[in-house]
Amino acid sequence: MSVCYVGLGANVEDPEAHITRALKAFQQSPQWTLLTVSSLYRSQPLGPQDQPDFYNAVAALTTSLPALDALDWLLNQEQQQGRVRLRHWGERCLDLDLLLYDDQVIEHERLSVPHRELCKRSFVVMPLLEIAPDLMLPDGRFLRDISPEFDGQLQRLSPPVIDI
Ligand code: ATP
Ligand code: CA
Ligand code: CA
Repeated sequence: MSVCYVGLGANVEDPEAHITRALKAFQQSPQWTLLTVSSLYRSQPLGPQDQPDFYNAVAALTTSLPALDALDWLLNQEQQQGRVRLRHWGERCLDLDLLLYDDQVIEHERLSVPHRELCKRSFVVMPLLEIAPDLMLPDGRFLRDISPEFDGQLQRLSPPVIDI
């Protein structure tokens, strides 16, 4: 079993419902165990500004899937929930990013772990810190010592997205 952290995001078509549905899909899958979920956070879009605010959360899980298979599961779940790719960093009803996978560093053409933008985005760093305050990144830095450059006026919306 590997421990991993997944970032969930959405900004159209009832974003909170899509995030909740994805979390339930983890709970129903024999290949994942959902350990913890952060609160839901809202922030202004990072990409094009003519789109709604984003809702984000981070989940801690264990998985029996190798990293690339875990990525494929996440991409398939986005498809199942009707994600359409329109433009880079544009609107989406569900985005599932593999943030960390054990303490592995992976540079594959389809998968970079840790997620390349993890440390730059407060909508990832803050929910991750909420559920893993002592987390150390594979390069030995503590997450709590990271100062993300993008904030987007991040707001924490309580309570956690779903009960486990
Ligand atoms: P960003 O990755 O900057 O958050 P995005 O989530 O909008 O942008 P997507 O269009 O969802 O990007 O994904 C594009 C591709 O990124 C995926 O098809 C996948 O192969 C690749 N990718 C690389 N590393 C990861 C990762 N750690 N988690 C998810 N996808 C990844
Ligand atoms: Ca993303
Ligand atoms: Ca993604």
